[in-house]
Amino acid sequence: MNIHEYQARELFMQYGIPVSVGKMAETARQAAEIAGRINPPYILKAQIHSGGRGKAGGVKVVRELKDVEKQASELFGRILVTRQTGPQGKKVRKILVAEAAQINEEYYVAVSVDRSAGQVVLLGCRDGGVEIEEIARSAPEKIVKTGFSLKTGLKDYHIRYFLDQMKLPYSKELAGIIAGMVRLFIEKDCSLVEINPLALTSEGYMAVDAKINFDDNALYRHPEIEILRDPDEEDPYEMQAKQAGLSYISIGGNIGCMVNGAGLAMATMDLIQSLGARPANFLDVGGTATVERVTKAFEIIMSDPEVKIILVNIFGGIVRCEVIAQGIVEAVKVTDLKVPVVVRFEGTNMEAAREIIRDSQMHIVSADSLGEAARYCAEYVSKEVR
Ligand code: GDP
Ligand code: MN
Repeated sequence: MNIHEYQARELFMQYGIPVSVGKMAETARQAAEIAGRINPPYILKAQIHSGGRGKAGGVKVVRELKDVEKQASELFGRILVTRQTGPQGKKVRKILVAEAAQINEEYYVAVSVDRSAGQVVLLGCRDGGVEIEEIARSAPEKIVKTGFSLKTGLKDYHIRYFLDQMKLPYSKELAGIIAGMVRLFIEKDCSLVEINPLALTSEGYMAVDAKINFDDNALYRHPEIEILRDPDEEDPYEMQAKQAGLSYISIGGNIGCMVNGAGLAMATMDLIQSLGARPANFLDVGGTATVERVTKAFEIIMSDPEVKIILVNIFGGIVRCEVIAQGIVEAVKVTDLKVPVVVRFEGTNMEAAREIIRDSQMHIVSADSLGEAARYCAEYVSKEVR
């Protein structure tokens, strides 16, 4: 789960990480009121779940109080398009109004998980402010890393080693910021705590941007984080799926996928991609693909208007294929599907399952193998597009 910068700043304050004075506004009038209580120059920052707002025109410096309301009203309602939002962009509904920091240097600092090492890792770069993904591509050697085990925890020598690699002098102030980030990361079960840029100002270091991602699987023990969720920022289909207990992520292609098992779902998506086509989604219906769940899954897949065909890939291990075939036929009936469905069964009672599909008299194609099913879908959408 992601939160906004203004919310992340609140958490930063709780963990002793310095941020500028400021508040979130939902109207231009509010923005002016907030500015009236703080010192100029002001900075207006669009609050959307995305980086790259600066480049997209979502960050404005305003010198005088009288200009704040007008500048804010120009920002509200705008659609910002960044690399992370996709071409449809994101609408500005909230703005952070803060005292603009006088920045001398900009650094990148983050705490994340090093999956291959099974450790928490400090990440840093002297060139902050710019997109770190860009540096990772063009000059990865500029990014420094210091991993540490959760058994020992973060020690002062980790911080010293990290700052040394960053060519920054050790100070109590910097060490406090890094230790605060790590404490926040661990206590709130984050997957990312990022400050880009960490600015050096005449009054010391300050987090000029604040980004936090949380591990969804740990949210159940953080009701205080769960309430920070902004429904405007969530994918509506993903929300519906979550309520139905399905694991669904929309990807943006046009072949809908319904698969039992996360690994098989990923393999299915890979195969589609390798055929030059694009999966619309990841969807794991789980081991108990009942009629209700399959129906809900079809509804969610079909609520994405881009979907032109649905590939159902079922491996009958513990579940029996014919039970799922029955569920699929029922679900296709009740959802009144407007696109073709291709199903591939493998495993327990797959012959019986294929018979049920064939006898159903519905517009469902039964494929003998996953390769065949994926090729059918890829060819179908390429014809649709042409
Ligand atoms: P992002 O583009 O979404 O990552 O948004 P940031 O919060 O990082 O802002 C983008 C850029 O705007 C930063 O890299 C800074 O150069 C600039 N910026 C943001 N806040 C301030 C501020 O308080 N003072 C000054 N001088 N520049 C700022
Ligand atoms: Mn930033």
